[in-house]
Amino acid sequence: MFKKKLIVLSSPSGGGKSTLANYLMTLYPEIRFSVSCTTRKIREGEVHGKDYFFLTKEEFEEKVANGEFAEYEQIFGNYYGTLKSEIKKHLNSGNSILFDVDVKGAVSLRRNFPDDTLLLFIYPPSFEELQRRLEKRSTESPEELYTRLERAKEELEYKELFDHSILNDVLQTAFNDLEEVIKENLS
Ligand code: ADP
Ligand code: 5GP
Repeated sequence: MFKKKLIVLSSPSGGGKSTLANYLMTLYPEIRFSVSCTTRKIREGEVHGKDYFFLTKEEFEEKVANGEFAEYEQIFGNYYGTLKSEIKKHLNSGNSILFDVDVKGAVSLRRNFPDDTLLLFIYPPSFEELQRRLEKRSTESPEELYTRLERAKEELEYKELFDHSILNDVLQTAFNDLEEVIKENLS
């Protein structure tokens, strides 16, 4: 039902990917979430196999050695990666896939699936607001938060490589803008 079956959401940490991804999946239940692997610590409320597959560094590196990843990156001192099997599973069952990956992961997915990716960049109204949202989310220590904000500056420069960019200021407006872009992708 979608022209491009791999829908990729990227933004600096705290930009609103998870919020927008959840909204999109309530609108379109036939879109499946690509569950990534990570070596970072599980956050309160996260579920293994739903939010991420939480692996040890050794387990992750074994999968790298076995060529199991479509793409992976080292981010904030941890590994994050998309399993080839996750993509295959959803495509074989005829569903579209939603990815929540960093900007480099988005570029890799485009390289691997050039005709089948829709790259969407989500950006906050300002750097200060991004900081406020991350502080309010309270999922990182002050040091981790600082690292995420430092990386955000670099990530914001990737915006031009994406098919569309969506400002996440007023949430309902961002939802509407996302829906608009997704509707254009309907076949
Ligand atoms: P990401 O997945 O990109 O790291 P989240 O979706 O977790 O970002 O959003 C970061 C925080 O900001 C969350 O606590 C979320 O509830 C909040 N948030 C997201 N969008 C908005 C918005 N438009 N206005 C205010 N808060 C927001
Ligand atoms: P978080 O720790 O906040 O869940 O994620 C940190 C960053 O890692 C976010 O930018 C998120 O999009 C990214 N990320 C999550 N999974 C993957 C993945 O499989 N590959 C890549 N490249 N980035 C990922």
